[in-house]
Amino acid sequence: MSDCLFCKIVDGTILAKKVYEDQHVIAFHDINPKAKVHVLVIPKKHLETLMDVQEEDLPLMGKITSVIQTVAKDLQIADSGFRVINNCKEDGGQEVFHLHYHLLGGEKLSF
Ligand code: 5GP
Ligand code: ZN
Repeated sequence: MSDCLFCKIVDGTILAKKVYEDQHVIAFHDINPKAKVHVLVIPKKHLETLMDVQEEDLPLMGKITSVIQTVAKDLQIADSGFRVINNCKEDGGQEVFHLHYHLLGGEKLSF
């Protein structure tokens, strides 16, 4: 979607500090980090919310889980632990309507 912020990060129109990229998934540092490590893991495919994931997208969801593991290892928070958050729609506090997972860690999370 041309007016989607994260689609613009996927296509390179908007720059982000990428920590991982493959054919289907990218991960990049959040611009406003809420923890020492705050990375967003997103599918390249524009899915607005978790509720828009269809049966055909389930392999992609598995791939995202694998990428979260890879990024956690690369950023050395795999052993200390981390939190994965998806904010879904208005009540969940979703601001960017392109599916993404927050990967937070690098310190004891107090919230
Ligand atoms: P949401 O509230 O939708 O779950 O989270 C959106 C996240 O995207 C926020 O944590 C916000 O800081 C991050 N964000 C918003 N705009 C940009 C941007 O242009 N670049 C990056 N890297 N992160 C962004
Ligand atoms: Zn998008």
